[in-house]
Amino acid sequence: MSFFQYKALKGMQDILPPDIYLWQKVETAAREVFSLYGFQEIRPPVVESTNVFTRSIGENTDIVEKEMYTFTDKGDRSISLRPEGTASVVRCYVEKNLHTLPSPQKFYYAGPMFRYERPQSGRFRQFYQIGVEAFGDAGPRIDAEVISMLRHCLLRIGLKDITFNVNSIGCPECRPAYREKLTEFFAGGLDSLCPDCNRRQHTNPLRILDCKVDRCVDMRKGAPRVTDYLCNGCRTHFNGLLSFLELLGISCTVNPDMVRGLDYYTRTTFEVTSENLGAQNAVAAGGRYDRLVDEFGGPETPAIGFAMGMERIIELLRNSASHDFPAPDVFIAVIGDLAAREGLVIADRLRGKGFWVELGDVGNSLKSQMRRADRLSSKYVFIIGDDELNSGRLKWKKLSDSSQGEVSMFEITDFLLKQSS
Ligand code: ATP
Ligand code: MG
Repeated sequence: MSFFQYKALKGMQDILPPDIYLWQKVETAAREVFSLYGFQEIRPPVVESTNVFTRSIGENTDIVEKEMYTFTDKGDRSISLRPEGTASVVRCYVEKNLHTLPSPQKFYYAGPMFRYERPQSGRFRQFYQIGVEAFGDAGPRIDAEVISMLRHCLLRIGLKDITFNVNSIGCPECRPAYREKLTEFFAGGLDSLCPDCNRRQHTNPLRILDCKVDRCVDMRKGAPRVTDYLCNGCRTHFNGLLSFLELLGISCTVNPDMVRGLDYYTRTTFEVTSENLGAQNAVAAGGRYDRLVDEFGGPETPAIGFAMGMERIIELLRNSASHDFPAPDVFIAVIGDLAAREGLVIADRLRGKGFWVELGDVGNSLKSQMRRADRLSSKYVFIIGDDELNSGRLKWKKLSDSSQGEVSMFEITDFLLKQSS
């Protein structure tokens, strides 16, 4: 008889122990650092009406053109799994009238995102982001604070060798003129561009600057630079940001090619890369989106945010150092049914006091129970057999240095507390 082999979908991963401890470490660090800057968590749904994303991310972006998981639900509505977080947060901000609360409003979210991309190293179809959004502050100071928060967060996680890139991609006032210059520049060399960029030349020429295909990289050498076309407002904002970053001692590379793949950005964009990743080397990215709340029907509200890619951060962390994973405080080995009952009671009591306790299986030999205690890297092993039940004293062994001794059944909690203090 043949069985169907169940498999996770392509590009979707199970996250298992011990890796999960690295995930939790990153999540905890992010929560701690974000709270120092007054960012609070929100949890929007992972599915939204498709137009929440098409409208904001832009019709002519890779995400909307080819990467969205879009379905028709049983009520004949077009719904999509979220490919990123900002659109949902903005939808929520407007729908729940959060703009009526005192400004600025600062939020973070964490969870899975879905993009139908070609799976490869650092690129998955379900991947996790932790992101932040700050609403209601137009000045460059908040841009600098958000970038500084990202930096503190990545340092707290333990990442080294990271580079900050910043750029300004202008606003609806100055970008059209730049866009025109760019279209003109590329018009002469359409044959040399990849088919995607050939199309982008009309629909979204800024995206050509972001293309990874070699001939497009060659072709764009000498292209007009967005930073040369900023209007006065955008230039002042960008210079303000650069001076704040300098004040905070954050070294950043100004990279005029960094345009980002989403249409909603205005002015500041930034990206953090690591030289210790392969081709997919961006660990976090973000920017300002001063028009988006307005486009969702809310009042004009300046805003800025970023998202960190969890998988790439975990990859860096996994390779950067050895990690201590949590282990049981106590393993109780039991010999005989009465001892097994006593072991269960002691374990329950200790767990009530906050200790991680694992119980041996009475059906297994003492030797095999000890092997399991060792495999789990338990700190202490207690052994209970007939002698121990009679005397009320348990043998203990500390696995790290093989020291051993005895302790009264009634003093185990004190014994453990004393050892860990
Ligand atoms: P990339 O250029 O790597 O495709 P992007 O511009 O599409 O990135 P954003 O939408 O800005 O990425 O997402 C922010 C971060 O989320 C990225 O810097 C990256 O770390 C992570 N990320 C994006 N797409 C994926 C994916 N398919 N798999 C894993 N991580 C991803
Ligand atoms: Mg992408």
